Parts: sequence; C-alpha cells; structure tokens
Amino acid sequence: MTSSSGESGCGNGSGAASPHVVLVPLPVQGHLNPFSSLAHCLAASGISVTLVRAARANAIVSEIQGSAASSPLPHILARPIRVEVVPDGMTSDPKQPLNPNKVRESIEIIGKGVDGLLEKLMREKDAPCCLIIDHLIGWGHDIALKYGLPWMMLWMGSASAFSVGFHVPELVSRGYIPAVGEGAKDRMIDFVPGLSPFSVRDVPKPVRIEEDTKANPFFQFFMSIYYKAKYADRILFDSVYDLESSVAEALREEAGFSVCHVGPLFMMSSQTSKSSARTVNLLQEDDSCLSWLDKQQESSVLYISFGSVVTLEYDVISELASGLEASGLHFLWVIRPDALSGKASVEELLPEGFIDRTHSRGCVISWAPQLAVLAHPSIGAFLTHCGWNSVLESLSHGVPMLGFPQQAEQNTNLKFIVHDWKVGLPLLQPNMQRIELTYVQDAMTVIMKKDEGKEVRRNALHFKKVILNACNGSSKSNLEKLVQDFISGNLKAPAPLQ
Ligand code: UDP
Repeated sequence: MTSSSGESGCGNGSGAASPHVVLVPLPVQGHLNPFSSLAHCLAASGISVTLVRAARANAIVSEIQGSAASSPLPHILARPIRVEVVPDGMTSDPKQPLNPNKVRESIEIIGKGVDGLLEKLMREKDAPCCLIIDHLIGWGHDIALKYGLPWMMLWMGSASAFSVGFHVPELVSRGYIPAVGEGAKDRMIDFVPGLSPFSVRDVPKPVRIEEDTKANPFFQFFMSIYYKAKYADRILFDSVYDLESSVAEALREEAGFSVCHVGPLFMMSSQTSKSSARTVNLLQEDDSCLSWLDKQQESSVLYISFGSVVTLEYDVISELASGLEASGLHFLWVIRPDALSGKASVEELLPEGFIDRTHSRGCVISWAPQLAVLAHPSIGAFLTHCGWNSVLESLSHGVPMLGFPQQAEQNTNLKFIVHDWKVGLPLLQPNMQRIELTYVQDAMTVIMKKDEGKEVRRNALHFKKVILNACNGSSKSNLEKLVQDFISGNLKAPAPLQ
C-alpha cells in the first residue's frame, strides 16, 4: 500500500503530513472488529486515523485486554491509531445484555459525543478530511453535512444483502411487502438486477414486515439508511467483489452507488499490519478449547456459535442439545453468559445430564477465539446464526455452514450460503414450523458425514481460495485506491438530502 508521507491530505489545504480520517463504529462486537481492522489497514498505509470508541465498549475492552486496547499496536503501524472515547449512556457491565432499545438510545448519545469531538478536531491543524460511519448509524450523513466532510458508509454485510434491502420499496410498490396472507412469504422475486431469484422469506427480517410499512419505525429507519447511502462518497463493503460481482456491478450501474469491496477486513488488516487485528473483544476468550481441538480428529468437530447478540429460547436450546446428543458428533459449543435464558448456569440451561453424557466428545465454552477455531483442522462444519462476520470468517477458512438464522439479515445471508455459493445447508427447511430433535440430528449428520456435506465442503474450500486471491487482488487494490483518494482529496463533498 502507498504511504502518504510528505503529501497533503484530502485537499484540505492544511498542509498536514497525512490525511486524517475519523471512524465511527456502533459499539457491538460484530461491528467493532471490522472497524478496528479497517483502522489498522489505513494506519498501516500512513493515514492518520481517529477511532471513536463508545464508553461501555471501551471499559470492557480495556478490562479484558489491558492498555493495548486504547492504543492498538502502534509500534507496527506507519501511524498510531488515536482512540477517542465518547459517552454512550450504557452500563459498562458486560453481563448485562444489551437490549435493542438501549442500543438505539445510545446511538443518539454517541452522536452528541461525536459532534463534540468533531468540533474539537476541526480546530486542530491536522483536521479530519473524511468520516467513515457504521451503516447502522442513522446520523452519519447529517453530521458529515454539518462539518462539510465527505463520508463513507462501512457496510458490515454483503452487497447482495444490501441490494435485497435497497429494493424493498420496489417490493412494497409491487405488493410483495407487507407479506400477508397464505403463501405470501413463498412468492418469488426475480427482477432485482444482479441477483438470482429469491423469495419474500429471504428479505431481511426487519423490513419483511407483515403490517403497514408506514406505521413501522424500524422499517422507516432501515429505508432511510439505504436512501442516505446514495449520499455517501462510497459504500465500503466488508465483503469480496469476486463473491458477488454481478450485484456489485448492478448496484453501481443501475442504482448509481459507489461500491467498494475491501474485505474480509480481518484478513486485510493482518496482511498490512503483520499481526492479528482482533484487538477488540467484549468477552474473555477461552483458549482452552484450542488444546481440546488438538486432541480431536481432522474435520470431526461441529463448531456451534450464534454470535454476540442472539439469545435462543430455552426450548430451542433443548432441542438443539438433544439433536446434537443423538447425532453422536463431536462438538465445540459457545454459550455466552448473557444467553442463559434466565438460568443460573450452562448445566441448568442444557438438558439434565447433557454435559456429563457428552463429556468425552463435547466442549462447551462461553466465548471462543473464533478465528483460531475456524482455522483449526479438527473443525468440520459451523452451525451458525449466519451473522455476516461469522459467514465471512467461515468461508475464509473453507468451513461449510449449517445455517440457523434468527434476526437482522441472517435469513438473507442463508439464501446466498445455500443457493448461490452452495457452501452450506439450512438447519431447518422453510416448511418446518418449529425446531425438533430429529431435524437437528439429521441436518448435523448430513453436513458432517453425508455426500451433500462433502459437496458443500468442496465449495467452501473453493471460496477460501477465491477470498485469498481477493486479499492480494480486488480488495487490496480497492484499499489502495481508497488511500490514494484520501491523499489526493478525490472525495465527494456531502450534499443536502433531496
Ligand atoms: N465471535 C468470537 N467468539 C465467539 C463468537 C463470536 O470471537 O465465541 C466473533 C466472531 O468471530 C464474529 C463476531 O463475534 O467476528 C460475531 O459477528 P457476527 O456478524 O457473526 O454476528 P453478531 O454477533 O453481529 O450477531
């Protein structure tokens, strides 16, 4: 990547030694790491980076990771990353689950903090020339406009899922949404440019609603995100162009978006900074599972994790555990402390005697070093909620997935996993009303042992290569171009919404 030393940044006329970019993530696990990775990539290329961190996340990360957390690996970067902490109105107790309403309130409080921070930074000699804002932060465009700064959206998902969401207004005008009545969710949509046909069931859950869209604030919020994305200088996708080139081109040519694939950021950052960029953890990793994995046979272990947010109902966990037990498979299962559904311990949450009966072939932990787990040769498949980071991390390691989506755009991701990339299978078929032991047992056995499982494993290994190539190809050149544009000031000024 090109270093910026000696050049002035972003055409701000300040004569600063390097362009200064401010990154604003949402303080949730699945967003902190991509931002941290992007910060590393930019800082390694000589860009001055200010990374905003909300108070709760900062307190937790500092406790878990010590002083390294507030100044991530400055010695190996061309420029140190400046971390600025802003208030968020949240509890710093990691055991308290984050309820969505509290997170939404906190985004507004963080906005006030970022406003104050920018006021300060804009008076400094090395004033920022661009903001990179989390796709779930609704005020990104407003604050960019207030300070006259170009802004970019970092989308922690695929362009394919973005495109499905972006086309929702058309689905509403054509009568697919609200999805009401018999068979409404099974109706097929075959007219979105660049995408293979998908059903209403595959539309991201927050916007696939069943009542009047105008009365639903979530729906309106999500629509505003897609609308405002057009005003961003570009949308940075933590995804890989070669996975979804046709949709990337369609978004560019037919919808006029400036699309820029720079992922997987966790891989890009470890390339540029010669170190793992996994500097942000909101829970303590339990590394003991790695030595347990060392003792297992190759491709014999099913890794089970539902990310950092999803909490499953007690009944669902019980069926999963019973199916897992009946399958006879070896497994590594992450059950977070905040996901205990009100039970006092994991033993109490799981069926009575489960831990004892599966002791010789199972390991249950509260938080995994997921990248190291997925890289381990003993892992055969990943039972996942299909959060985008998990999908990308699984694919990057060539691990096939068994998908059990719960919320957000996880159902949309499953569609691409199963039907487009063919790198995974669903845990449940669409016609299954509820989870049952026998479905679970069958699906787990198929992905780990049967021909269908072998086929998706082969495909996953193919995509592992595709992704590795992108790290030295399309994603690398897109990041280089990004850095060059910061240096030359080739950025779109913010404009008022029409
Ligand atoms: N993760 C982890 N250890 C775990 C479970 C998850 O490090 O035991 C990480 C995982 O590697 C991923 C993130 O947490 O980077 C979860 O993000 P994802 O988008 O998959 O799901 P979310 O938590 O946002 O629902």
